[in-house]
Amino acid sequence: MRRRLRYAAYALLSFSLFSYLFYALGGFNKEYSISAKNAFVRCVDDKTQGGNTHSEIDISGQSLVLNCDIGDKGKWPYCEIAIDLSKTTKGLDLSNFHSVGIDVDYFSPIEGERIRVYLRNYDPAYSSQDDPVSLKFNAIEYAPGIDQGLTVIPLKAFQVLSWWIAEYELPIETSGPQFDNILQIEIATGSYIKQSHYTIQLNRLVFYGEWISEEMLLRFNTSLWVLAAACFLFVERRRLNHQLREMVAKAEFLKDANESLHEQSLKFEELAYTDSLTGAQNRHAVDCWLQEVIGFSKHNGHAFSMAYIDIDFFKTINDTYGHKVGDEVLKEFARVLNLRARKTDVVVRWGGEEFIVFCPATDLRGITEFADMIRTIIENYQWTEGLNLTCSIGLAEYMPGESIDTFIQRADRALYKAKRQGRNRVEAAS
Ligand code: GH3
Ligand code: MG
Ligand code: MG
Repeated sequence: MRRRLRYAAYALLSFSLFSYLFYALGGFNKEYSISAKNAFVRCVDDKTQGGNTHSEIDISGQSLVLNCDIGDKGKWPYCEIAIDLSKTTKGLDLSNFHSVGIDVDYFSPIEGERIRVYLRNYDPAYSSQDDPVSLKFNAIEYAPGIDQGLTVIPLKAFQVLSWWIAEYELPIETSGPQFDNILQIEIATGSYIKQSHYTIQLNRLVFYGEWISEEMLLRFNTSLWVLAAACFLFVERRRLNHQLREMVAKAEFLKDANESLHEQSLKFEELAYTDSLTGAQNRHAVDCWLQEVIGFSKHNGHAFSMAYIDIDFFKTINDTYGHKVGDEVLKEFARVLNLRARKTDVVVRWGGEEFIVFCPATDLRGITEFADMIRTIIENYQWTEGLNLTCSIGLAEYMPGESIDTFIQRADRALYKAKRQGRNRVEAAS
């Protein structure tokens, strides 16, 4: 995405630079030359206004040559080259041309004398077909000299003749120069000529313009950049929204995963502290608890006792009925212990067929009662396969100051004693 954007920006930048370069090198320039091929040429003089000027026009190579003998009868003697660009009222639209190049050699008795150039515009707002004077006079006067070559004049320099504006009573809004429908071009002798011979030789007449103006190009490029920026913002917004949605989904997923991991870890924790066969707690599970209870007994002088229980001749059960039955018996044994123990007692599977029941707030007398009850229940219980089962129990009451290991060892020794003395017995540690 980022790469595509970069490429788009490069492409846009290249386009802008290239278009400006092309413009600067004149790639958008256009020219329109007036010649006898695309116009009708004639000469006009003051004869129609009562003068006696005599004029003649010739085509000599690429040039138009007007020879006049200015007379002395007219009020404003003159002669001119009149170039008709169209026979209808649809002329030449010069509105996107910026200047005109004129190459004229002007032979007159006074040095530096000026000629008049008129670009005549037709507009039904003020022009009529029957009145040739009604075409707007966009005018300029300049001294072309002889062999001076092409003079380029900006169209902006042309002005509408004031007598014409007055004559046709043009409102201000339409009285400015106008080049959108030029029907006629006139190149006339100057305003202050005298009775003499004049020659106007028109070598070249060309209009210069641009297919696209600098302003248009700037506007186009700016619009393109604005459009690209808008597209970029739109695409970027969609991308960010998409990313946001993905992130939210990911966060949801992680939350779920976290919850399930937490549940799993709780399960593992439970498994780590629980014996998988009997469901009783294991040694590891009661470590901390034992420390706490002993600490509590030490400080408060509360009694704390344990019964170390071992199933008699358990190996024989395995050997006779198989391991599976042995497991069943172990499970059932643990169930009986748990059922009979108080809420505050803790039943732990200490090893193979050995269990310890820790009884807080219980002295030796209390634990002896408990142990006798257990021994009797086990002896009389309806075991699977009609088995007869007994257990031996060693008891110990916690002696303040002794370690947990010593406490357990004493119970273990009592158990050993019970075994030695024939099993199915309860013995208390001294
Ligand atoms: P005693 O009266 O001296 O305690 O004799 P015992 O046979 O009970 O004692 P011993 O230590 O000789 O044998 C214990 C047997 O318990 C050996 C072992 O195979 C069995 N055992 C230990 N853990 C398990 C268990 O999880 N499942 C089964 N089925 N048997 C087990
Ligand atoms: Mg044993
Ligand atoms: Mg045993």
